[in-house]
Amino acid sequence: MKKAGAVDDVPPSEVLPGSLIEVRPGERVPLDGVVTGGFSVLDTSAMTGESLPVEAGSGSPVLAGYINGQGVLEVRTERDWRHSALARVQEQVEAASGRKSPLEGRLSSFSRIYTPLVISIAALVFLLYPLVTSGSWADGLFRALVLLVISCPCALVLSIPLGFFAGIGRAARQGILLKGSNYLDALRKVKTVVFDKTGTLTEGVFSVDEVLPRDGVSPEELLYWAAHAELSASHPLGRSIVKAYEGTLFPDRVAELVEVTGGGVSARVEGRPVLVGKKSFLQEAGVRTEEGEDHGVTVYAALDGILLGCLRLSDRVKPGAERAVRKLRELGVSNLVMLTGDSSSAGTEVGLKLGMDEVFCGLMPAGKLEHVRRLRPETGLLAFVGDGMNDAPSLAAADIGIAMGGVGSDTALQAADVVVMKGDPLAVPLGMMLSQATERIIVQNIVLILGVKILVMVLGILGLAGMWAAVMADVGVCLLAVGNSMRIFRVKLDM
Ligand SMILES: [Mg+2]
Repeated sequence: MKKAGAVDDVPPSEVLPGSLIEVRPGERVPLDGVVTGGFSVLDTSAMTGESLPVEAGSGSPVLAGYINGQGVLEVRTERDWRHSALARVQEQVEAASGRKSPLEGRLSSFSRIYTPLVISIAALVFLLYPLVTSGSWADGLFRALVLLVISCPCALVLSIPLGFFAGIGRAARQGILLKGSNYLDALRKVKTVVFDKTGTLTEGVFSVDEVLPRDGVSPEELLYWAAHAELSASHPLGRSIVKAYEGTLFPDRVAELVEVTGGGVSARVEGRPVLVGKKSFLQEAGVRTEEGEDHGVTVYAALDGILLGCLRLSDRVKPGAERAVRKLRELGVSNLVMLTGDSSSAGTEVGLKLGMDEVFCGLMPAGKLEHVRRLRPETGLLAFVGDGMNDAPSLAAADIGIAMGGVGSDTALQAADVVVMKGDPLAVPLGMMLSQATERIIVQNIVLILGVKILVMVLGILGLAGMWAAVMADVGVCLLAVGNSMRIFRVKLDM
């Protein structure tokens, strides 16, 4: 905290709204506020999920949770710690998980009917047998006992959780971790799927899509100069350009590297001046560039003060994303929505290209949460798929929260019900298919078990099945149900 010119270290909880604080390079912004001095680049991914840094200067609003880049920022705080954006995300996660409706178990409702029914039938057999057939009471008692043994629901009680355990095991083998069998059961009822964009449907990392040199320059040449100038730059776009260059890199050919925050880099490569950065950055240095609007993220490069061309970068859509969307439709999902913290037109295009019904952009964690609450379908369930801390409240609020485990933040993994290990969007339809397959096997088990039991029960009442038949039938169907449940490991899942 800054007071009368001096800077003091104090915990964020003690800073009152309206105080001046200093945020040094590499530090997390502790409180919400407005920048009053300094210039820097902020990593806002915790709050927006976006990987591209955002410039901040005097007058820019900042939120707790942003990470400061290179410059020192002076910030006038607007809220105290308890009301900061960061504290509210945690609060929303807790509130949303508490309000989640429990997914009911099938077994408890079944046993409420089955147990009294079977006992009354046995009692009736015992009482009516001697009266109807003029047999002895002992005979009646024996038949009632046979009935009780065969009706023993242990095979049923075993088969349902067994079916789910096998399903959870199969899901784990595909890299889908479920935090309970109820989520495996619920997945097949999903009618609305809401996706986050960056890191969930897209890689979350920018890569060079197009190399557009001016006439007389080869693409390799353009990449050679740009990659060398960016060789030791810290900006994510610079690193992507270095990655895109396939030839050998020579660090000793680079000198005088200067990184201009929010602009680009200038360096000497092989002793010749190279500029790489925004169009405005090159223009300020006197480089002539073509006029016209840029599409998406474009980086320009110049050698000896003359334009070499430009590189177009984009956040690539994950390979499985399109197929996942198509498969979800086939599986009966009626509403597909994308929510993103990205506010660029390129961001919106991604969702529409993938075939989403609706796309909402420029959302903060609370905005996403609001949409998730509003989108909940009247019949069926809503699944939210996300990866970042900004998705955590929505993950907790959705009927089923699915987190991308490969790249996801800890907060997201904690708030989710299902974790997809490799971050592959195809895991969502895969999980739904496994849920359906598990359901089929459990229904088969129930039909098989009840069928055999009712048959032997009737035979028992008629005196055609003795105690041994009752025991054999009970154990037999148990084993059959176990064998059938294991089939889930061999079910083919066509994508
Ligand atoms: Mg994200």
